[in-house]
Amino acid sequence: MNTEEQETIAQIRDTVFKVSEEFPGAYWQEKDRERAYPTEFVNRLTELGLLASLIPEEYGGSGLSITVGAEILKAIHEFGGNAGACHAQMYTMGTVLRHGSDEQKQKYLPKIANGDLRLQAFGVTEPTAGTDTTSISTMAVKKGDKYVINGQKIWTSRAEHSDLMVLLARTTPKDQVEKKSAGLSVFLVDMRDAINKGMTIKPIRTMLNHSTTEIFFDDLEIPASSLIGEEGKGFKYILSGMNAERILIAAECVGDARYFIKKASDYSNERQVFGRPIGQNQGIQFPIARAFAQTEAAEAILDKACRLYEEGDVSGTYANMAKLLTSEASWAAADTCMQTFGGFAVAEEYDIERKFRETRLYQIAPISTNLILSYLAERELGLPRSY
Ligand SMILES: Cc1cc2nc3c(=O)[nH]c(=O)nc-3n(C[C@H](O)[C@H](O)[C@H](O)COP(=O)(O)OP(=O)(O)OC[C@H]3O[C@@H](n4cnc5c(N)ncnc54)[C@H](O)[C@@H]3O)c2cc1C
Repeated sequence: MNTEEQETIAQIRDTVFKVSEEFPGAYWQEKDRERAYPTEFVNRLTELGLLASLIPEEYGGSGLSITVGAEILKAIHEFGGNAGACHAQMYTMGTVLRHGSDEQKQKYLPKIANGDLRLQAFGVTEPTAGTDTTSISTMAVKKGDKYVINGQKIWTSRAEHSDLMVLLARTTPKDQVEKKSAGLSVFLVDMRDAINKGMTIKPIRTMLNHSTTEIFFDDLEIPASSLIGEEGKGFKYILSGMNAERILIAAECVGDARYFIKKASDYSNERQVFGRPIGQNQGIQFPIARAFAQTEAAEAILDKACRLYEEGDVSGTYANMAKLLTSEASWAAADTCMQTFGGFAVAEEYDIERKFRETRLYQIAPISTNLILSYLAERELGLPRSY
């Protein structure tokens, strides 16, 4: 990292810290209780240009590196917030940037950068396909200058709070393609035109406040110009964005881990039981120290993943390892923090239980731990493919 980048990161951390003071624990507790979208927080980040940090300057963004993007998300989580309401814009916009036409980029990216449009929805997962993305069955059939879409998505987060959605659908049925990854296409759907005209969104209430939904498509017509790149090549386009997604999510995990480690350290110094701070007991100290070591190690892998990404490395090994290790570090830190706080850990006002629920998600989404392990076993160790 060069000096200029270090200075940018220091400024960004300072800015995010000030934002976190505007949106303290009580704000997040209320949103969590109501399962409400943190609109004010997302608007504030947008005003500050933080969500446009990865959009190139020619389209109105700040053209920063993924290292800096990761630091933004890390800081949001470290200072007690949650970027789940808006992080997707950072990586979904990459699909438009890398594979969209000049016209699509000119039309959408500047408006995404200045906040006029939100691109927060990413419709890939389907109820019957799960992790096996090439088995999705939502179909987009070309009819004249339109595509007609039928099918269903699940876990499409932020769909009710987004103007645009990056959608993966089959344009050729799976039984008619030679390779199962062929025949999938990516569309940029303008949800404002689609809602209740063939597209229905149903929120799913979950254990954390994530604004996630299922979406039903019933003869939804979208302009043929919504296609991104070439028809049938969508799987490749989606894969190309996944390293960025994993890196950015890993950064959130590091932020969470640091949050828990700081909370646990501070509390164990203050809390007196049997006439001495609980942190004097090694039974309390050691798990915190272990979580700290685990987080530092995981962050070093994340740094390497960022560097490789910036150098143009397209292998997913380090992005996947970063996501694996940081999500385990954040969970270890969360569990340790819970134990350190004792009974107070479960009281809403301490924020621990909320962050605990939030950080558990990362071992499941955006990709679950087993799938990362099978990737490493197969690609790095040459073990037989298990699926
Ligand atoms: C809150 C939330 C938000 C989400 N947001 C989005 C979103 O915005 N857009 C989107 O497209 N998706 C989203 N997802 C979906 C997410 O990416 C998937 O949940 C995740 O990839 C896991 O898929 P699944 O839930 O279908 O699990 P499944 O694929 O059904 O797997 C279930 C379990 O089996 C294991 N498993 C499956 N196959 C194997 C195998 N071959 N070897 C070993 N273990 C295996 C998995 O690791 C997992 O533990 C979200 C999910 C959640 C919960």
